[in-house]
Amino acid sequence: MPDPSGFLEHQREVPKKRPIPVRILDNREVYTRTTNQLVKAQASRCMDCGIPFCHNGCPLGNRIPEWNDLARTDRWGAAIEQLHATNNFPEFTGRLCPAPCEAACVLGIGDDPVTIKNIEVEIIDRAFDDGNVEARPAAFATGKSVAVVGSGPAGLAAAQQLARAGHSVTVYERDDSPGGLLRYGIPDFKLEKHHIDRRVAQMEAEGVEFLCDVNVGVDLTAADLRERHDAVVLAVGALEGRETDQPGRDLAGIHQAMEHLVGANQVAAGKAPFAPIDAKGKHVVIIGGGDTGADCLGVAHRQGAASVRQLDLYPMPPSDRDDVKDPWPTWPVIVRNYPAHEEGGERNYGSAAAEFVGDEHGHVRQMRLSEVTVDKSQGRRDVVPVPGTERLVPADLVLLAIGFAGTEDQPLLRQFGIERTRRNVIDCGEDWQTDAPGVFVAGDAHRGASLIVWAIAEGRAAAAAAHRYLGGQTALPAPVSASAQPLAA
Ligand SMILES: Cc1cc2nc3c(=O)[nH]c(=O)nc-3n(C[C@H](O)[C@H](O)[C@H](O)COP(=O)(O)OP(=O)(O)OC[C@H]3O[C@@H](n4cnc5c(N)ncnc54)[C@H](O)[C@@H]3O)c2cc1C
Ligand code: SF4
Repeated sequence: MPDPSGFLEHQREVPKKRPIPVRILDNREVYTRTTNQLVKAQASRCMDCGIPFCHNGCPLGNRIPEWNDLARTDRWGAAIEQLHATNNFPEFTGRLCPAPCEAACVLGIGDDPVTIKNIEVEIIDRAFDDGNVEARPAAFATGKSVAVVGSGPAGLAAAQQLARAGHSVTVYERDDSPGGLLRYGIPDFKLEKHHIDRRVAQMEAEGVEFLCDVNVGVDLTAADLRERHDAVVLAVGALEGRETDQPGRDLAGIHQAMEHLVGANQVAAGKAPFAPIDAKGKHVVIIGGGDTGADCLGVAHRQGAASVRQLDLYPMPPSDRDDVKDPWPTWPVIVRNYPAHEEGGERNYGSAAAEFVGDEHGHVRQMRLSEVTVDKSQGRRDVVPVPGTERLVPADLVLLAIGFAGTEDQPLLRQFGIERTRRNVIDCGEDWQTDAPGVFVAGDAHRGASLIVWAIAEGRAAAAAAHRYLGGQTALPAPVSASAQPLAA
């Protein structure tokens, strides 16, 4: 039974952020912990709708009204049970998800939506504090063995589901630590890495073996995996960065965004003394207006950049939903402001790099910038410069955050005889099986660069399919089908 007047009594309120001058001196998370009073008041705004449209936005099928009511009434133990029933890692989604559930919340029609993800994060943080997150090893062993290649959220979710179903699971990861993009893409100011370490420890206690620094296909072949395991789940991500061919691209000082982020994450983790790509004292230009660009922006400020400019091809979107183009409950195209944007820098909308200009040593020093329009009338994206708008801006460091071109063309795929699709991803049937029998796929490797919530949902669904393939008697939950299109975001 929901609070009948909660949404009338309380306005939407999110936890406070640490002050900007303080937070840019370190890599710790931006948001402070919420208070008991705030989270309960916010949970009381949920109307427990007859048709909870928030579900429409969540590929995991999270039981949102249920755990909102449990949080409101101080039943935190039951709340984490409900949350874990559909989501292996609410501490990741609660911190990082763009929250398509909130865009679909019924309260959002005439008011501000429920702060669903803040409630989610408080439920899981409390559960850890209260010792309510324990290892759940399987009651019996099936005698079957599964290899999971890649330890991002898709691989971790698949591995945990399969281990809990009694299979012997080994996760192979080519980085030195598990986590995928959670570990070396996303900066600590969005997700401190102890959250990953805590889950990895739980999974080890459940019997999952993690083998890091193993590049499958190079250090170990597909044939080796076949010999050691009864099934394989490929969760290798979509990490091939998009390129640009503007004149001057070969100058020094122009890098893929991921090169910048990986180095900075290694420094934050104490694994490297300094970042190979350091923005300190430099004029930085980030090409790309999305999440990855915002992460580079936050890192550049923490490294002490002299100035940061972020370019976006498209004009500035409206700040509120356009009810005609993007009616509720769809995911609206609105301007997305992340905490990193409050910390400084300039955003240039409708702008693109026309040329990179170097010094006598072959290092980029300036960028010729042009205002542009984007024409999609011919079924493709034509970027058209606006005549007379070109200007030179300082650029000692240029970061390309223009998206990902798909799954890398790597030896592992050739060894399994798996072809990438025209979109450079790995296809599968409705049973999540690739062209190679007994080899399943999940996450960005299957759907292209996407979101953590989709990676976890696909990891769970691929695990359910692999479990069936291995003769599992009980059904594991499969929240999405292999052909599911994102409902939002
Ligand atoms: C900078 C950045 C910020 C982002 N921020 C957000 C955000 O705030 N919210 C959100 O929802 N999403 C965000 N995303 C997207 C999100 O991180 C991805 O959608 C998600 O991590 C995909 O999970 P995955 O498990 O499919 O793949 P990944 O996380 O990419 O993991 C794949 C793993 O496979 C490993 N691997 C690949 N090949 C091999 C091999 N041959 N042998 C062994 N290991 C291998 C890789 O090393 C990697 O660790 C962000 C992405 C980037 C790049
Ligand atoms: S749509 Fe919003 S108000 Fe309705 S049940 Fe979901 S979270 Fe609560």
